[in-house]
Amino acid sequence: MDALPGLRREEIGRSVQGRPIYGYSCVLPGSEGGPAAADAAWARSAHSTGADAGPPVVALVSLVHPMEWISREVHLHLMETLLSRPSLLPPGTRILSVPDANPDGTQAVEAALRSGKPAWVRGNARGIDLNRNFPVGFRTRPRWIDFWPMWRPGPAPLSEPEPRALLDWIRSFPVTVSLSLHSFGRWIFYPPSSHRRVTPTAVRHESVVRRCLARTPARGYRQRQLGRYAFWFRAHGIEIDSFVEETNGLSFLVELSWGGFGRWGWGRLLHPFFTFNPPRPEQEVARVEPTLIRLLHESLVSG
Ligand SMILES: [Zn+2]
Repeated sequence: MDALPGLRREEIGRSVQGRPIYGYSCVLPGSEGGPAAADAAWARSAHSTGADAGPPVVALVSLVHPMEWISREVHLHLMETLLSRPSLLPPGTRILSVPDANPDGTQAVEAALRSGKPAWVRGNARGIDLNRNFPVGFRTRPRWIDFWPMWRPGPAPLSEPEPRALLDWIRSFPVTVSLSLHSFGRWIFYPPSSHRRVTPTAVRHESVVRRCLARTPARGYRQRQLGRYAFWFRAHGIEIDSFVEETNGLSFLVELSWGGFGRWGWGRLLHPFFTFNPPRPEQEVARVEPTLIRLLHESLVSG
């Protein structure tokens, strides 16, 4: 990321183990006056609300779940594309990017890969699933499922420093649309996540994502309200719900790829990292990137 021109890097917080969490930002050239004018316009409007809230803001987040490395691959490629072809988004669009939202988790995954031992790493250094630790819809879980590794929300909403850092940064901008990238299943989800009711928020998201998939479909990708994923499924304390509440913008959770189960050879069949990540990330980039750009664009022009 540091090699991409025009990006400003700032430390937006620290992980449990003290690793910096970096946020990158830039402003695409504006129709009048270029990035400097867009910056000034943004500064004027940063604390205003309503329709006249200044230039649009896009936020990209990946690796909230640290085993899902395809999320960062797609994220970095998308940044490269948007910065090298700025006309893909409206002039003056501000882009915020947090490629590694869970640096302790990422480090643990990397250490496990280097040691060659399979490891299940879904949370931060305390084992908390950061994508259950956000405040909207947060719910603690009963003790009897302590064995189950998929849902460890932490003792209280925002008990973990990583979601706090993300939310603080996102709320300091009038974010128009955010994408949180995950793996796997080829879904574009939107809030609400913790119940099945179809709210005005759900309707607003659905109309944008429907238009996006009608105009630029990605083979195999479907869309749904996350709380309606399945009759038995509810997701509590999810980042997209809190992003929407904080920013009043749109927020999508994208489950990228079909992972890599069975595609890395027998030796890696039961290794969770290889279950979540396809062997050829560039193929997934080619499949989904135009759709993600369309989703951003549709969100900015109609959201
Ligand atoms: Zn995930």
